[in-house]
Amino acid sequence: MKCPKCQTTVPDHSSCVACGFPFYAQLDDAAVAHGAADPDGKNIQLPSGRVLRIPEEHNLVPTITPLTRAQKNKNLLMAFLFLVLIVITLMVIGYLSLAVDIGFIWIFVVMFVLALSWKMIAHVIDFFNGEAEVYTDRLIETERYRSRSKHPRIYYFGYFEQLGQISISANDHYAAIPGALYKLSYAKKSHLLLNIVQVASQ
Ligand SMILES: [Zn+2]
Repeated sequence: MKCPKCQTTVPDHSSCVACGFPFYAQLDDAAVAHGAADPDGKNIQLPSGRVLRIPEEHNLVPTITPLTRAQKNKNLLMAFLFLVLIVITLMVIGYLSLAVDIGFIWIFVVMFVLALSWKMIAHVIDFFNGEAEVYTDRLIETERYRSRSKHPRIYYFGYFEQLGQISISANDHYAAIPGALYKLSYAKKSHLLLNIVQVASQ
């Protein structure tokens, strides 16, 4: 793996063999070490009440790796979902325009469809030409959040030292180990979060 501190490529051990940076840490130590390293960050209050300092813009350097077949397929599925969304939007606006004079709303529809099309194309590029940007970052804690609406939805968040708040899956939430380093793989073009994998301990 690539050490997030000294950027040297080192084997997956419990700490960096080049600079000694711990890949597992007591959480308070991690928070203190990070807060000291970045005085200009913004504070966010985590569910536990601990306040974490997150940089406005993280300065992690990603490793570029080819996408796996499964990661490519995720992008193909997303491209298909965006295509469905585009078709539904055009159908709805088509029927609406028959019933009423929608006037200048057309402009916004065109902009919306163009935005959806760009997202779809980005996923298609990731499918055919797939590269992942892999970031290594320390997990501070996770949160299970239930929205207070008529139809409540449950969201899961991971709070990382540099990347801040990230939407994660339920499985990742329950498997999470606070204080451990994780590799987060993003599709390069669409920035879709593909995987969160814990750095192995040895
Ligand atoms: Zn290092």
